Amino acid sequence: MSQATSTRKIRVATCSLAGCFGCHMSLLDMDETLASLVEHIEFRRSPLTDIKAHEPCDIGLIEGGLCNTENAETLHEFRKHCRIQVAVGACAINGGVPAMRNALNVRQCLEESYLSGVGVVCPQIPDDPELPRLLEKVMPLHQAVQIDYFLAGCPPPAAAFVELITAILEQREPHFAPP
Ligand code: SF4
Repeated sequence: MSQATSTRKIRVATCSLAGCFGCHMSLLDMDETLASLVEHIEFRRSPLTDIKAHEPCDIGLIEGGLCNTENAETLHEFRKHCRIQVAVGACAINGGVPAMRNALNVRQCLEESYLSGVGVVCPQIPDDPELPRLLEKVMPLHQAVQIDYFLAGCPPPAAAFVELITAILEQREPHFAPP
């Protein structure tokens, strides 16, 4: 990595919305590069740190699409607090596997999952008011907020995270290798 132009550590927040945490695993695949990067970055709100409070950050890395009302609230809080917002992986960019339900309406999905589906032993659609409400369609992040960068792949390779973070540290545009 070239010499970073900033002396302050940049703050990175991450979260998983309707995702599988595979993108987080790829982030950790940076291996020893991660060890050198932590001289320049610090992880804040993230499943990696278990910090749950929102706070101002430089980079927000978000995997997963928007599936429910809680996802939407989290995404808007990230947009409010993160200077640079990044859609990480196919689910964040186009909805991914969770968006396969978009061919049905929510009621059909709930009935198939909880009432008539294979293996249902106690048919009941969960209705606790504290549960997040499913959105009618699973949406990619850019349909709800402005996204600054997109890391393609399922998951994106570790090298894409390295390039993104290094470019931001060096205050230049990232150049991603073609898939
Ligand atoms: Fe998981 Fe792939 Fe979606 Fe990332 S893009 S959350 S690895 S399914």
